Amino acid sequence: MKILVLNAGSSSLKCQYFVDRISIATLLIECIGEKHGHSKLLYQGETISKDHHIPDHEDALKEAFTLLDQYHILPSVNTLDAIGHRVVHGGNLFHQPIHITPKIIEDIRSLIPLAPLHNPANLKGIEILYAHYPYIPQVAVFDTAFHQSMPAHAYLYPLPYSWYEKFDIRRYGFHGISHSFITREAARVMGRESASLNLITLHLGNGASATAIRSGRSIDTSMGMTPLEGLMMGTRCGDIDPAIIPYLSEHCGMDISTIETLLNKKSGLKGICGHNDMREVIKKADDGDALSLLALQMYIYRIRKYIGAYAVVLGQVDALVFTGGIGENAARVREMVCEGLEQSIRLKIDRSKNEKPSTVARSIGHSKSHIQIWVIPTNEELEIVMQLENIV
Ligand code: ADP
Repeated sequence: MKILVLNAGSSSLKCQYFVDRISIATLLIECIGEKHGHSKLLYQGETISKDHHIPDHEDALKEAFTLLDQYHILPSVNTLDAIGHRVVHGGNLFHQPIHITPKIIEDIRSLIPLAPLHNPANLKGIEILYAHYPYIPQVAVFDTAFHQSMPAHAYLYPLPYSWYEKFDIRRYGFHGISHSFITREAARVMGRESASLNLITLHLGNGASATAIRSGRSIDTSMGMTPLEGLMMGTRCGDIDPAIIPYLSEHCGMDISTIETLLNKKSGLKGICGHNDMREVIKKADDGDALSLLALQMYIYRIRKYIGAYAVVLGQVDALVFTGGIGENAARVREMVCEGLEQSIRLKIDRSKNEKPSTVARSIGHSKSHIQIWVIPTNEELEIVMQLENIV
C-alpha cells in the first residue's frame, strides 16, 4: 500500500511516504509563515535542502508534493492508497483511528480547547488534504487513543466530579502512538503476544512520559489533561504543586499566560541548568557544573519514582522499555535510572550491553534481572501506517 503520513505542527510539517510499510522518503518543512523557511527531503540516503519563504501550510503541502514529484518518488498524489494524519488530542471522543469525514473534522475542531497548541495545526493538514483529495481514504490517528483504556480511577483528578462532566477535565495521556508502537515491538522482540505483556515504557525525548501497560493496554500514564504533567522534561516542568500557579500570580506579578509559557518552555532541565539538550546537560555535569548535575539527578529521580509506582500498580512487570531520543541514545541516563533496583524490584542492567551504541532494538538487562530491560527505537509514522491499514 502507498501511504503518506502527515504530522502538521503550528509552523512545521513532516511527511513520510511509505510503500508496503517501507519508508521511501521523508520531508521536513520548517518555519512556515516565517521570513526564512526551509524544506528538506531525505531520500535514498541523501538530503536535499532548500531555504525559501513558505507562507502557509497550503504552500508547504504544495512544496512537499512538488519535491516528491520532482524526484520521481510520487508522481501523482492520486496514486496514494491512503493518507494518515497524526492528531494529538482525541479527547473522550476518539478511542481508535477514524476515517476523516466533515463530521470528524468538526469533532476534532471541538477538541481545540483541550489542545490549543496542537489540534489547530493538525486540523490544517487534514482540511487542506481533505478538500483537495476527498476521494483518497484519509485517517486520523490520535496520540491520546492508546490511553483510553485507562480506568476511571487512573484518569480522574481528585477534583469536583462535575468538572469532568461539564468541562472534560481528566487525564488523557499523550505519546500514545509511540507507547503503542513500543508495546507492539516489545512483543515482537520478546517473542510474546502483546496481550500477555506487562510493561513499563519510558518515552524520553524533548517531551517525556512513562506508561504502565497491563496485558498490552495502557492502564496509567504520566502525562495528563495536557502534556505538561508527569516526568521532568526538556523545557516542561512535569508534576508540580498546583498552588504554585496562584502563588506566582498573586505574589510574583505574573499573569496566567506568562506562567503557562514559563511552565512549558522555561522549566524542566532548562529551568534548572539552562540547557534542555540532554547531551549538553550530561557534558556540563561531567565538567563539574553543579546545576547541570542537579538537573540530571532530578530528571532521573522523577523517572525512578514513576517506575516504582507503576511496578506496584502492575504487580508483575515483564520488561522496562526505553525509547525516544534520550531513551534510545543516552546510556548514562538508562544506567542511572536502573541503578540499585536489584533489591526493590529485582531489575538489573547489564552495563556492557547498555553501553554498546546501536540503532536497533536490543536487550540490556543482566542475565540475573527478573525484569527484562529493552531499548526499542520508536517509529511513530510506521505505527500510524499500521493502525491505518487496519481500517482502510
Ligand atoms: P522529540 O520529543 O522532539 O521527538 P527526540 O525524541 O528526538 O525529541 O529527543 C530529543 C532529545 O534526545 C534531546 O534532549 C537530545 O539531547 C536527546 N539525545 C539525542 N541523542 C542523544 C545522546 N546521544 N545522548 C543523550 N541525549 C541524546
